[in-house]
Amino acid sequence: MKIYNTLSKRKEEFEPHEPGKVSMYVCGPTVYNLIHIGNARPMIVFDTVRRYMEYKGWQVNYVSNFTDVDDKIIKKAQEEGVDSSVISERYIEECKKDMKALNVMPATIHPKATQEIDGMLEMISTLLKKGYAYTAEDGTVYFKTRSFKEYGKLSHKNLDDLRGGNRSLLVSGEDQKEDPLDFVLWKPKKEGEPYWESPWCEGRPGWHIECSVMSKKYLGDEIDIHAGGEDLIFPHHENEIAQSEAANDKTFARYWMHNGFLNIDNKKMSKSAGNFFTVRDIGEKYDLQVLRFFMLSAHYRSPLNFSAELMEAAKNGYERIVTSVSNLNYLLEKAQGDVPGAEEEKAMEEAKGFVQKFEAAMEDDFNTADAVSAIFELVKFANTNVTEQSSRAFVKALKEEIVMLSDICGLIVEKADEILDSEIEALIQERQEARKAKNFARADEIRNLLSEQGIILEDTREGVKWKRA
Ligand code: AMP
Ligand code: ZN
Repeated sequence: MKIYNTLSKRKEEFEPHEPGKVSMYVCGPTVYNLIHIGNARPMIVFDTVRRYMEYKGWQVNYVSNFTDVDDKIIKKAQEEGVDSSVISERYIEECKKDMKALNVMPATIHPKATQEIDGMLEMISTLLKKGYAYTAEDGTVYFKTRSFKEYGKLSHKNLDDLRGGNRSLLVSGEDQKEDPLDFVLWKPKKEGEPYWESPWCEGRPGWHIECSVMSKKYLGDEIDIHAGGEDLIFPHHENEIAQSEAANDKTFARYWMHNGFLNIDNKKMSKSAGNFFTVRDIGEKYDLQVLRFFMLSAHYRSPLNFSAELMEAAKNGYERIVTSVSNLNYLLEKAQGDVPGAEEEKAMEEAKGFVQKFEAAMEDDFNTADAVSAIFELVKFANTNVTEQSSRAFVKALKEEIVMLSDICGLIVEKADEILDSEIEALIQERQEARKAKNFARADEIRNLLSEQGIILEDTREGVKWKRA
C-alpha cells in the first residue's frame, strides 16, 4: 500500500511498526459551534482510510481529539454567561450526531484536552528540563523553536526564511518571547477564563501540546500515521513534531497525511461572505450519504469545490448504486436455484476484476475517485448481467460485492429491511399465545423485538393494537 507522506513529499510504501496493527492520530475539531462541511472532510477521508485498513484485516487504533479549551469556546461561553464546559460538551454531542449521520465510525478513543492537563504539565516539564523550553516573567512557557534542529522538516520551511521575509507565518501576539519563532506551551489565565494550577502560573495550555500528549498517552511515542487538514501542516503539526521528538527522543509519526481544502463555489469558506454551510444545513437538503459520496468522489489531497451542481451529480451517483442494490434485492426474491450456471460462474470471475480495481485504487494513496469508479463499473456490470432468470447465488454474489465495496467507503447503500405488516401481526399472535401459555419470557422477548423495529404495542380491551413509532 502506498501513502503520500507530507514529510518526504512522495508516495511511500506503507509499513506499520507492528505488522497488522496501525496506530493513527487525527486532529479533531475545536468544539465551539456545529461542525461545517470543511471539518467533515478529514472525518470522512480518514474514516475511509481506517475502514479500508480494517477490510485488509489490520487492527486500527484510531485516536481523534476534541479541543475543548480555546479562545473561541471561552468567548462563546462568556456571551452565553455559562461555563466553557457547557459549550464544549454541547458541541461534542452535536458533533457526534453529525459523525453518526455521516457514517463516520467513532474513534477508538476521543480524548478531550481538558481531561489531559496532567500529561501536558509532565511533557512541558520534560521540555523545560531538557532545555527546549523556557519560562517568561509572566509565567508563560515557550518552546524554543531554534533548539529543535529539525524544525521545518514537515512544512519544508527554512527557519531563516520564517524569521526573515515571511512574518505572516510567525506565531504572533506574544510579547515575552526570546525569539519570534517560539511558540506557547502554557500561558497565564486571563480574568474569567478556565485555568489549571501549574508550576509556572495558573493558566491553560497552548493549542499544540494537547495532540503531542494525547498521541503519546494513547498510541505511544512513535505512531504510524498522523493526519488532519492541510492547514494544520504549519504551524500545528510542525510544532507537534518539535514538542514530541524533543521530549521523547523518538520519531513522532512516520507517515503524515493531509487532506486538501474544501471550498465553496471556488472560494474559501467564510461566514461573513455567506458561503458557509454546516453539516446540519446540508442534512436538511440531502441525505448525508450524498455528502459522504461527494467527498469521496475526489482525491483526498486535491482541493474540492462544493457547489449545488456538484452535489446534484453526487446525488445521482449515490442513487445509482442504491437503486441497483434495491433491484438486485428484488431479483433475489424472484431468483431460482442456488447453483450458478457456467455463464454465471464466468461472470462472477469477471466481477472480481472490479473488486481488484477498487483495491488497486485504494492501495494507491487512497484514490477514492478511482475506487468509486470501480463500484460504478460493477453496478453497470450487475445491471446488464442479472435478469429474472438469474440464479440466487449469482444475484447474491454481485449484490454482496457492491455492498461490500460501498461499505468500505462508509456508504450505506442498502436500507435496513422494513418489517412487514404481516410479520408484525404474526409476532403479535405468537405473543398472545405465549402469554396464554404463561411463557412471559417469550412474550417480553417479542415485545422487545418489535420495539427494536420501532413498533409500539398497546394492550387494549379490544385486543392488542400496534403502530409504527
Ligand atoms: P478546526 O476545528 O478548525 O481545528 O478543524 C478541524 C479539522 O477540519 C482540521 O483537520 C482542519 O484541517 C479541517 N478543516 C477545517 N476547514 C476545512 C476545509 N475548509 N476543508 C478541509 N478541511 C478543513
Ligand atoms: Zn493536533
